[in-house]
Parts: sequence; C-alpha cells; structure tokens
Amino acid sequence: MAALPPGSMIGILGGGQLGRMLAIAAARLGYHCHIFAPEADPPAAEVAAKITRADYTDAAAMAKFASSCAAVTYEFENIPFDPVAAIAKLVPVRPGTEALRISQDRLFEKDFCNSRGIGTAPYRPVANPADLCGAVTPLGLPLVLKTRRMGYDGKGQVKIASTEDTAPAFAALKSDALIAEGFISFKRELSVVLARGSDGHIVSWGPVENIHRNHILWRTYAPARIEPVLAAEAERIAASLAEGLDYVGVMAVELFDCGDRILVNEMAPRVHNSGHWTLDAAVTSQFEQHIRAICGLPLGSGERLCDAVMENLIGDEVNAWPALLAEPGTKLHLYGKAEARPGRKMGHVNRLYPTGSAPQP
Ligand code: AMP
Repeated sequence: MAALPPGSMIGILGGGQLGRMLAIAAARLGYHCHIFAPEADPPAAEVAAKITRADYTDAAAMAKFASSCAAVTYEFENIPFDPVAAIAKLVPVRPGTEALRISQDRLFEKDFCNSRGIGTAPYRPVANPADLCGAVTPLGLPLVLKTRRMGYDGKGQVKIASTEDTAPAFAALKSDALIAEGFISFKRELSVVLARGSDGHIVSWGPVENIHRNHILWRTYAPARIEPVLAAEAERIAASLAEGLDYVGVMAVELFDCGDRILVNEMAPRVHNSGHWTLDAAVTSQFEQHIRAICGLPLGSGERLCDAVMENLIGDEVNAWPALLAEPGTKLHLYGKAEARPGRKMGHVNRLYPTGSAPQP
C-alpha cells in the first residue's frame, strides 16, 4: 500500500483517551485527525482538527466522515459492527473489519485462537440455564460466566462456585449470548502489545505484567519478569493472532501465565492501556506506531529505553496531580475529562527506572 503523506486526514471512531493520544501522535507526524464520537465533549476532540458528533448508526454522518478521511481507525472494539463495515467500502479501515468482528465476541475470539492451536481457558457457549448446567461437568467448578459481547473491566461476568449459583448467575447477566469458561489459576496476568505493518512486518514491545484492582487495570510493569521461554511463547502467540487476522495496526493480547504454559484471555484490536508506558519508555510509542501502521509508513523501533511502571489514575486519584508532578522520574498524562467519576480513567503516570531496577509487583 502507498504511504499516506503527512497532511492527510485520519479518521478515528471513538473520542476517548485512546483517540486523544492517537490524535496527538498523528499531529506530531504532520497528520490531521477527524474524530467521530456521539458524546458532547469527548477527550479526543480538543486535540483534533475536526469532530463529528453523531451516533455510529447515523449512516449519512458516517459516510460524510469517511469521505473526508484517507484512512479510518477505531479506538474501541465495542463500536457497532455494521456501520464500520459500511464505511470500509468507502475508505480503508485499519485494522480491518475481521479483527473487529472476532474481537467483539468472546466465543469467536476463543474459536479463532484455538483454530490457530493457541490455548485458552476451556469454554462452552451458553444460551440457556440447561447449557450452563451442561457446562459444569466438562469445565469443572469454579467457572466464569461472561457475556459474549460488550464486556469490559469485569462488567458482564460472574464467578460460579457451586451448582446453586448457576440460576442466579444466569439471571444476573440477562442474556442468551453467554460463554462459560473454566477458571484458570494463573500465576500472573501478562499482555503483549505489538504492531503489524501493512507489509506484514511485526514489532512488539515484549510482554508486560498487569495488576488489576476492582477489575480495572491498575498497574503495568514493563518488562514482565518472566522466564525467557515464556516471554518468547507470549510473543509467538500474539504474532500468530496478528498474522491470522492479516492485521494492520497495534493490537494487544491479554494472557494468563500459568507457570508452565501461556493461555490467551482476550485480545483488543487497538492501542491498549497496558501499552501506555511506551509513551515515555520506548523508542516508538504504541500511538505513534499505530499511526505509522495505518498510514503505511515503516514501523519504528519497539526498543525499551528503560524500565517503567504505568499506574492508572482512576476517579479522584487524579487529584494527586501536584504530588505526582513533583516526583522525579514520573511522567503525568491527563485526559482532560471534566468529571472524576468513580471507576473513570482520568489519566495515568509512567514511573521510569534504569533498566533492571524497577520495583516488582
Ligand atoms: P476479562 O473481562 O475477560 O478480561 O476478565 C477480567 C478479569 O477477570 C481478568 O483480567 C482476570 O483477572 C479474570 N478472569 C477472566 N477470565 C478468567 C478465567 N477464565 N479464569 C480466571 N480468571 C479470569
């Protein structure tokens, strides 16, 4: 594919902090961004050249948006699929719609991993209480019941410890498109964020370790201190998924390190919270790399310059900004959100350490 020259307009579906950081990276490379988002005041809008405020299902607004852009990307995977597929006929959408289709549904995602010989938790589709009871014997207890679609930050999932829990769990999720997963007792949670260019070249930042609080990512430790053989396996898995999707752009694969093997939990067809450390501690950030990939530019180096610990600022934790700015070796990133609601990602910090000296989780 021919490279899009600087000055081209890049469309971003979604106006959150990921869109904002993508738009900042695009501007540094001389591109303009057009944000499409339904919200009144999306964080990405104030750093972008153009904004369309409309619903994703507004076909006319989407078509007009697409016609203004040389390429379009998305910053979250729970965007309605059909409108994206419709504009993909008008303008290159990267990553493509196949990555979106698969990553929108936990069942498709796990089927896709397994079709490539990549391990996941054992799973069964569940459409009714009888399916759930039938899943208990093959998967064992405890198990995790999840909605197939639209789940994030632990929303849309229930742990089931005994057969008595099955009926309330089913009632709680109020859906007939569910997936039951065997419970994995992992040692730690990892992710691999990588970029695949339009020429198929892959650049990864290597596995990092993620710590969650209240089901929301709290800290990412880069690099993950794991056996080299497991690190290589995590990278091989992520690269295989990107290749299988003929992926163009940055993607993240969330993994369970089970000590003797690595299993995929889920993948995100976009820049990812566990890649935010790359803004300050890698030669090329995930945001710049995504822009490079979708514009058909050569990918930059994924080399880590130092160790880093990324910490999300959730809700009123953002009020600590004066103290955080006073910490030497700490870089503060705020998303410009007006209201610090509980659970809302308001910003993050990257704490930088000489290679090999970062604190451990
Ligand atoms: P998810 O929304 O699938 O990323 O799940 C949120 C969190 O729940 C993960 O980061 C894990 O900590 C935990 N989790 C999800 N699935 C499983 C599973 N099958 N076994 C054990 N823990 C899980």
